[in-house]
Amino acid sequence: MSARARESFARSFGEVPEACARAPGRVNLIGEHTDYNDGFVLPIAIDLDCVCACGPGRGTVHLASADVGAAYEAPPGEALRAETWRTAGAPRWASYAAGALACAAREAPALESMLRTRGIRLAVASDVPLGGGLSSSAALEVSVALAACALAGEAPADIARACQRAEHEFAGTPCGLMDQFVSVHARAGHALLLDCATGAFEHVPMPPGWSVMVLDTGVRHELAGGEYARRRASCERAARALGAPSLRHARERDLGAPGLAPQDRDRARHVIREIERARTGAGALARGDARVFGALMVQSHASLRDDYEVSCPELNIAVEVLLDVPGVVGARMTGGGFGGAAIGLVRTDDAPSAAPSAAEAYARRTGRDGKVRVVRASGGASAETAPAGCA
Ligand code: ADP
Ligand code: MG
Repeated sequence: MSARARESFARSFGEVPEACARAPGRVNLIGEHTDYNDGFVLPIAIDLDCVCACGPGRGTVHLASADVGAAYEAPPGEALRAETWRTAGAPRWASYAAGALACAAREAPALESMLRTRGIRLAVASDVPLGGGLSSSAALEVSVALAACALAGEAPADIARACQRAEHEFAGTPCGLMDQFVSVHARAGHALLLDCATGAFEHVPMPPGWSVMVLDTGVRHELAGGEYARRRASCERAARALGAPSLRHARERDLGAPGLAPQDRDRARHVIREIERARTGAGALARGDARVFGALMVQSHASLRDDYEVSCPELNIAVEVLLDVPGVVGARMTGGGFGGAAIGLVRTDDAPSAAPSAAEAYARRTGRDGKVRVVRASGGASAETAPAGCA
């Protein structure tokens, strides 16, 4: 477990932690903007983690982050109430951690009682870049919820859903279940095909000899939040016009329906095809067919750019740059869009030379620093208790 979280705990509280947990960030390989349409997503957990080190409190909830260099302390009644985090001036980063504690405690009586009486002290340190589209928020929530449960000696049923609730109720972000789910349930060397309608999932082996490269565009456009809400509304209207409970149940051949506005039709076309691409893509990965998967990634990007209109110039350039690099068979934007990261599927042997050439080409074309990482499909979150554990 990360020495940085343990050291941050020791520095903040002058003691050694009694429990630790790590939880990974993720990239979604395919299946974008399908989660809130009851569709499929196909993410991998990556080898970048958030680590939470914790110990019993002194009557308060005391949270520290080595990454933002800040701490928050309040009585449990205040820290664990969602309203506290809706007031202006509440430190946003701490809402994710407090929310994870509060929502996990609803399903974990021993944690609930520990938080109400003794409180908790915890420190987090993450190597998932904050706000870079690799889901540092889910990594933070899951590591906090798991570490706190380990400290209280409890194993709650559904950490992923508790953390999703935390993000909705405390951080005020209406995210789908994917980020938290893959952070909890991923298997090393596998992607995870998640059916967002039922919660059913399947581990899909990654093709041997292929790696995932992530190019962080370094931009996050302001319109992301508002546009996200508009896309959701558009999908709901389209489903209604097609008489379907959600776009999962709609068919492309029905898109000519008279009640459907042209823009909603484009949005629905993306979703219907993207759900199919996620399914087909999982099959291609499982067969080790990287070329077919790569072609699906390229189609996915075009669809997000043209039909769903959530790309931006930097993401389009990032995808072009990745596709130009020898050894890359497919690339697309990943995440909600309007900035964040693009990913490429690259032959593992070519990755060491591909990463710097992609970074250099992106910088040349945009004048921006484009950080490129080669990530490994990693296992889901885990927790340990002291004394040996937090070492
Ligand atoms: P992403 O999840 O893609 O990284 P989000 O906007 O969903 O982007 O979440 C990023 C936010 O999560 C950060 O701005 C910060 O408030 C919070 N966060 C994530 N990790 C940490 C951390 N280690 N310490 C403090 N805050 C964090
Ligand atoms: Mg997030």
